[in-house]
Amino acid sequence: MWEIKVTNAMDHLLRLEDIRVHFYVRKMLFRSTPVRAVDGVTLRISKGITLALVGESGSGKTTLGRASLRLLKPTSGRCYFDDIDITDEPERRLKWLRRRAQAVFQDPYSSLDPFMNVYQTLEEPLIIHKIGNSSQKKEKVEKALEDVQMVPSSQFMPKYPHMLSGGQRQRLGVARALILEPDYILADEPVSMIDASSRVEILSLLRELQQRYGIAFLYITHDIATARYFSDQIGVMYLGKIVEMSTPEQIIQNPLHPYTKALIAAVPEPDPSNRFRERYTIPGDPPTPAHVPSGCPFHPRCPEFMKGTCDVVAPQLQEVRPGHFTSCHLYAGLDSRSQATDTTAP
Ligand code: SF4
Repeated sequence: MWEIKVTNAMDHLLRLEDIRVHFYVRKMLFRSTPVRAVDGVTLRISKGITLALVGESGSGKTTLGRASLRLLKPTSGRCYFDDIDITDEPERRLKWLRRRAQAVFQDPYSSLDPFMNVYQTLEEPLIIHKIGNSSQKKEKVEKALEDVQMVPSSQFMPKYPHMLSGGQRQRLGVARALILEPDYILADEPVSMIDASSRVEILSLLRELQQRYGIAFLYITHDIATARYFSDQIGVMYLGKIVEMSTPEQIIQNPLHPYTKALIAAVPEPDPSNRFRERYTIPGDPPTPAHVPSGCPFHPRCPEFMKGTCDVVAPQLQEVRPGHFTSCHLYAGLDSRSQATDTTAP
């Protein structure tokens, strides 16, 4: 089994081993079809590291993120948090995880209770986890608001969500995740529903908090441009599998997989050096995970498709350059251990 390590130290905070999440959709009375939302992903994330998962809708990145928090139980595979196997743990025994691992979701409008003001929103997790007396709680709320630059905090505490801008609501969502001092945050499309000017501010804020507190992030996005800005490693997902993984520099400057090239080609920035734009514009939407194509799942859309190979044999993820993994027949037989130092993409 292959393994991707996202690490700057030996201590892995999160380990996902060969994770599969399959849903079953009933087609006829006694027959159901498996929807392979995540189909065999193994990765490890160390403390203080941000891994970005990039891909189109339906690629499985959100499902994988939810499995990492045990918000859903994988069909098979194992999840470890700080070397503790959490795969089969019942919810009542995961209270410690709910404190150490937090989430920031896409929609700041629906993730906040409209009847709770800012102070109550931030106090609630402290009450649930029985942390501090009332003055200690107030101190923590003030600090969390200062961390997300909602200052002066006394002005924000009595406000309700409808009195905040979209960017401020998302800052409040980040503060709520931070107040329990987590080791790991799942950030699922945290900036996709706020205006462009607030996006950069929120991403800068997350980066700063990550560096200040050494939090590990799993950053889920369809936008490879923001992944480049916010992550230490990028994993590209397609139909439930990771098809490429490396550092942001390697992924953006020397992508290997045709799907990654297509994602880069789709970035709406006028970049004359974007050499993938013409060739790697891919048609249509990805197939549904209920009907995964044979061989390489990307073959019906791939501009490099090789008949008789790509539609027959599923490529395996391999390390083509040191620290740069991809699953594509174009690189069959290439292995970082036998490669020369040439790092130019073909
Ligand atoms: Fe394209 Fe074939 Fe590579 Fe799949 S294996 S990405 S179809 S060239």
